[in-house]
Amino acid sequence: MKRIPEMFGSMVFNETVMQERLSKEVYKALRTTMRLGTHLELDIANAVANAMKEWAVEKGATHFTHWFQPMTGQTAEKHDSFISPTKDGKIIMEFSGKELVRGEPDASSFPSGGLRCTFEARGYTVWDITSYAFIKDGTLCIPTAFCSYSGEALDKKTPLLRSMEAINKQAMRILKLFGNDTAKRVATTVGPEQEYFLIDKELFAKRPDLIYTGRTLFGACPPKGQEMEDHYFGNIKPRVAAFMAELDEELWKLGILAKTKHNEVAPAQHEMAPIFSTTNIATDHNQLTMELMKKIADKHNLACLLHEKPFAGVNGSGKHNNWSISTDTGVNLLEPGETPYENAQFILFLVAVVKAVDDYQNLLRISAGSAGNDHRLGANEAPPAIISIFLGDELTAILEAIEKNAAYSAASNKPMEIGVSVLPHFPKDATDRNRTSPFAFTGNKFEFRMLGSTFSISGPNIVLNTAVAETLRVFADKLEANENFYSALAVLVKETIEAHKRIIFNGNNYSDDWVDEAKKRGLSNLKTVVDALPEFVSKKSVSLFTSHGVFTETEIHSRYEILTEGYCKTINIEALTMAEMSKNLLIPACVAYQNELLKLLTRKKDFGELSSKMETALLAKITKLSDCLWTKTERLEDALLKRNNQDEEIITQAKYFRETVFAAMTELRIVADELETIVAKKHWPLPSYGELLYSV
Ligand code: ADP
Ligand code: MG
Repeated sequence: MKRIPEMFGSMVFNETVMQERLSKEVYKALRTTMRLGTHLELDIANAVANAMKEWAVEKGATHFTHWFQPMTGQTAEKHDSFISPTKDGKIIMEFSGKELVRGEPDASSFPSGGLRCTFEARGYTVWDITSYAFIKDGTLCIPTAFCSYSGEALDKKTPLLRSMEAINKQAMRILKLFGNDTAKRVATTVGPEQEYFLIDKELFAKRPDLIYTGRTLFGACPPKGQEMEDHYFGNIKPRVAAFMAELDEELWKLGILAKTKHNEVAPAQHEMAPIFSTTNIATDHNQLTMELMKKIADKHNLACLLHEKPFAGVNGSGKHNNWSISTDTGVNLLEPGETPYENAQFILFLVAVVKAVDDYQNLLRISAGSAGNDHRLGANEAPPAIISIFLGDELTAILEAIEKNAAYSAASNKPMEIGVSVLPHFPKDATDRNRTSPFAFTGNKFEFRMLGSTFSISGPNIVLNTAVAETLRVFADKLEANENFYSALAVLVKETIEAHKRIIFNGNNYSDDWVDEAKKRGLSNLKTVVDALPEFVSKKSVSLFTSHGVFTETEIHSRYEILTEGYCKTINIEALTMAEMSKNLLIPACVAYQNELLKLLTRKKDFGELSSKMETALLAKITKLSDCLWTKTERLEDALLKRNNQDEEIITQAKYFRETVFAAMTELRIVADELETIVAKKHWPLPSYGELLYSV
């Protein structure tokens, strides 16, 4: 095996490669564009494209693609080879600056939420220069944003980049007020921790529910689940370790900073955490990570499940979005400093996040909402659907002291004064103990813990960046209008704490008391994604996103359509799969077992005196449950047939799916799972939970 430092980034057209392969002028021009977002001249683009192609061909690449992130939540790629014919009937390998910078894929088969009619099917992709090109499976991949011909975003990257620009602009205003003129840009950083399950591929192939929907729609609880708490951080089994080793290696080649791997709470559940990077790059990398997890699992005869809730009764999978703001000079703006000046700046950014999360809690809720994540949020394994912030006791006490103009502890008798007082040292570890909080401050960053494991992290970060940008805008407007900066700052911080402290909660978010308490505080509790979605098209949401140029109103409506329709489609596919499995697999199994019991009963009669108490009772029970299974299956099919027609508003359809179709699915499952516990194993056609969770 190659040494890791050599292997790291070996498939990436990164700084080192650029410096090696580009002339000084070209490199300088490209760097300027990367850093400041200025226009890239065509001759520079041509030179870069040529160097990229040479490098890629040396590494065995034959094709290139504009790699983008449409609204499906997956990534998309269309491969073009480098070949170009010459007059003498031969070919040369070519790649032009135009091809590098811009592509024109047919956009008509990607979800657009009514944004684009088929007669204007063209969309275009534009190189995201801040994310390095890389080679995957013999193809040079250019990370791009994807827009309609009229300029509307059709992807998850364009608005993410716009939101990063928005927070950059507002944060820079704040830094200027603090007298900082060395920083040229501010960017948000993200480290996404990714959870997943690994099961045996052969067993996976026997479960139509896993194949079609990513989760088990049936399955009785095994005798052993996660109650022994023996899996978390447990030793890693050889097959899983081999998978993890190959995953690390492939991620490293792509310059992805894979750092931590361990077993998670549920049996067969694991986690991978990278070292954080700039948000758009972290987003690209997380998409690649999910893709590679599936691909490498397959090579190891495993199936990687990324669904939020593949198994009922044990924990599902999420994604923790560790988020912070940092300057291009490397200063983390959420890192408490040593001096009163640094502290004042830290406190300002901290309360900006507090205000943003309080003001835009509904949007954050939506950003973590999906049919899959509905199984987790509020189910005592993941944070509830109620958004709150954990700051830890020390930091909360400090904010209280600032608000009340009081000493922050008995030990320090001076009042906390912004710009004058030095923050007391609070131990970083103590801030990270509350695992039930949806949004926790962990010493020098916030951890947004509600995301589902399949999510693109783009959506939640768009909301977070824009909401904080808006708060910083409000702050900057106020502070810039004031002569005496520090006294204005002190008032602003105090007022903000007063107005938004209701969102701070350091207790147990899983408790019922919190639900009551949150209600008293006036916090939202949007239990399912269907309850939450209409907030996305609310006046407040439209005003936030349009004022910062992150989404146009049309884009918001199109996304709302896509998300709501996506919910309906997901439940529809799950319902159809359940009905089919019930009729084609489960009912025949019940028939076979009944038949066997009946045969035995008939034969026993020939023997006269033998008891047939057990067979009679068992047969009666199975007959009764089978009848019930039949009825519930018919009821589910009925619910699907009676489904409102397409004229109905999409949100009305979504409500029907949740209230009627999903309810019918739940009832059907209860009967099927009970049957699984009494039908002979040889007749039951699906691998059990026990087999799925314990066979690797
Ligand atoms: P743990 O949560 O396991 O204690 P850490 O808190 O050290 O581990 O880190 C968790 C994740 O947070 C990692 O992906 C790490 O890279 C990321 N992280 C650390 N600092 C920052 C930051 N400034 N911005 C964004 N993410 C960060
Ligand atoms: Mg963490």
